[in-house]
Amino acid sequence: MIIYTHPACLQHDPGPEHPERPARLQVVLEALRQAHGDADWREAPMVKRGDLQRVHAEELIRQVLDTGPDDYLQLDPDTAMSPGSRQAALHAAGAGVAAVDAVMRGDADTVFCAVRPPGHHATGSTAMGFCLFNNIAIAAAHACDAHGLERVAIVDFDVHHGNGTQDIFFNDPRVAYFSSHESGLYPNSGAPYERGVGNVFNVLLPPGSGGFRFQNVWEDELLPALETLQPQLLLISAGFDAHVRDPLADLMLETSDFAWLTRQLRALARRHAGGRVVSMLEGGYDLEALRECSVAHCDELR
Ligand SMILES: [Zn+2]
Repeated sequence: MIIYTHPACLQHDPGPEHPERPARLQVVLEALRQAHGDADWREAPMVKRGDLQRVHAEELIRQVLDTGPDDYLQLDPDTAMSPGSRQAALHAAGAGVAAVDAVMRGDADTVFCAVRPPGHHATGSTAMGFCLFNNIAIAAAHACDAHGLERVAIVDFDVHHGNGTQDIFFNDPRVAYFSSHESGLYPNSGAPYERGVGNVFNVLLPPGSGGFRFQNVWEDELLPALETLQPQLLLISAGFDAHVRDPLADLMLETSDFAWLTRQLRALARRHAGGRVVSMLEGGYDLEALRECSVAHCDELR
């Protein structure tokens, strides 16, 4: 297993009291260095402009890249940029692209990208929901264009719907999107009837749902659809905010539920994708849950 990260990802500061704080990545890195110190740790490169241009409008790219070294900028009510944000965003997106190259080259089967800011709410044209660039979408588009893949799957188990990812690939049959998320929660998209060109699979979980229901919807609906797709590469938007301890949501998952799903995905990737899995950190706002879940997730990816 390769782990991509970069110190610049700690320098993005969305403001005081903001839940998406640098300490999140700090605890993930501490925990992984302890539990997975033997992994192949690599420094995430900066993403290239051409990689951004595959999924993002020029206006959004300029908005993020043209901020000066002293600028603080509020992009939406809960998304802001600080002087370190530009570099953080470039390395977070660059991690996913490098991770795809690494698994396609056969350097390793699996990669975890320990990066922030997260990405799955950023649409082609809009930074939102703590996200500047859509890291996982940039990685998926790169896999299609640079490596010629025709069936890439993005699995998103963050408690929020990845509206940006869905939006970017809504009419692109090369990339399929599979998400379970809590109903009635930000950004209020992700209804089951949102199907794209038959490449979008959404399951809503009512507040209070626990591991039993979570495992059932994956086992009965989402994993069979993934199995039918036979993806050539599996990408994961790994958010851990469906954990019972998380302050921003009301699902009741335990760490073992995240381990269970990761185990299923790893086995599925072995059957169809030559074992190739690239996972990127998304949400997760309780530090203890984040620590436990990232280790359990990587235990199964190893
Ligand atoms: Zn989330």
